[in-house]
Amino acid sequence: MGGKRIIIGTVLLAFVCISSCAAKDHDLNSETVSMTKDVFAMDTFMNMKAYGANAGKALDKAEERILQLEKELSVNDEQSDIWAIDHSFGDEVNVCDDTAVIINKAIEIGDRSGGALDITLFPVLKEWGFTTGNYKVPDDDTIGELLSYVDYRKINLNGNIVSLPEKAELDLGALAKGYTGDEIMKIMSEEGVSSAIVSLGGNVQALGSKPDGSDWKIAVRDPFSPEQDMCMIEVSDKAVITSGNYERCFTADDGKVYWHILDPSDGYPADNGLVSVTVIGDSGIDCDALSTALFVAGYDKAVDFLRSENGYELILVTDDKKLYYSEGLSECFTDLSDMGAEVIDLD
Ligand code: ADP
Ligand code: MG
Repeated sequence: MGGKRIIIGTVLLAFVCISSCAAKDHDLNSETVSMTKDVFAMDTFMNMKAYGANAGKALDKAEERILQLEKELSVNDEQSDIWAIDHSFGDEVNVCDDTAVIINKAIEIGDRSGGALDITLFPVLKEWGFTTGNYKVPDDDTIGELLSYVDYRKINLNGNIVSLPEKAELDLGALAKGYTGDEIMKIMSEEGVSSAIVSLGGNVQALGSKPDGSDWKIAVRDPFSPEQDMCMIEVSDKAVITSGNYERCFTADDGKVYWHILDPSDGYPADNGLVSVTVIGDSGIDCDALSTALFVAGYDKAVDFLRSENGYELILVTDDKKLYYSEGLSECFTDLSDMGAEVIDLD
C-alpha cells in the first residue's frame, strides 16, 4: 500500500506544481471568493482553502509558516532542531519555541495516555524502515535492545533546553501536523480570514463555518478500502484528525501487514483492535497526538478516554470491521460504509 500512496502522489504531482501553487475560484454556493493553495511538505500533500478578500495573503503566509516548521521539525534536515537533538549524544540542545511547545505537549499526552504516545520510539521506527521506506521486520533481540532506549519520561525539557539519554532519539511525526494546522488557523485569523479549511494528509482543520454559514462536510476514509470514504461529519471550527493503519504499511515475506504506529510496550505495530481512530476537537495538536495514542491504546481505553475527558468526539473502526462514533456526533454523522455504524456505548 506504501507503493500505491507513492503512485497517487506522482499522479497528483503531475497536476499540481512541484512545491506549491495557488488558484482563485468563485464558490458555487456563495458570492465569496475563495483561494486554494497546495503545498508538499512534511512528506504530505497539504491543501488549504480560504475565503474572503484576505485569502491570498493569508495563504502565502501559511505556506511560509509550513516551510519554516518543516525546517525546524524534520528528522532528515541537518539544520533542524530534531536533527540536533537526535545527534546530541546526551548533550543539551537549545531549541526554538515551536519545538519546545510540541515536545511539552508530547510529554503531557504521553502521561495522559499511560505511555501509549512515546515520541522516543524513533530508533525502533528506523529499524522497521518506516522512516526510509526500506521496510523490514527486525529480529526480536534488535527490537529489545532499541526499546531499552525508549522512554519519553527521560526527556529533559527546561524552557527551550532539551536533553535526552545518550542513545535516545525522538521524532514528532505523531503530532507535528496537528500543531502545523493550529498555526495555519492562527495566521488565517490574524490576516482577517474567518472561513478556511485545510487538509494535511489525514488531518482536516476547519476555521469557522462555510461562508454561507453552513457546516463543513468532512469525510473520513474507510481503512478497509482507503480510496473510499466511510462516513462524513458536519462541523465548524474543529480539528478532525485520523490515524489509520493504512497510512504507511507494508506486507512482509511472512504475509503479514505491518504499519507505522508502534506500540511502545513491545516495539511492534500497535494491534490492539483498532484500525482507524478519528479525534474531533478544538486543538489540532491535541487531536493529532490523541489519535495516535488512542490507536495504540485500543477500543476499551479509547472509550475510557471518552468517559473521562470532555471536549472530544471519536470515530473508531475495529479490526472486525465495525464502525463506532461518539454520541455527540449523532446529529452530524452520515454513515457511508457497509459496516453499519453504531453509537459508542459508555455504560
Ligand atoms: P500520520 O502521520 O500517518 O498522519 P499519526 O499522526 O498517527 O499518523 O503519526 C504516526 C507517526 O508517529 C509515525 O509515522 C511515527 O513517526 C510516529 N509514531 C509511531 N508510533 C508512535 C507512538 N506510539 N508514539 C509516538 N509517535 C509514534
Ligand atoms: Mg497523530
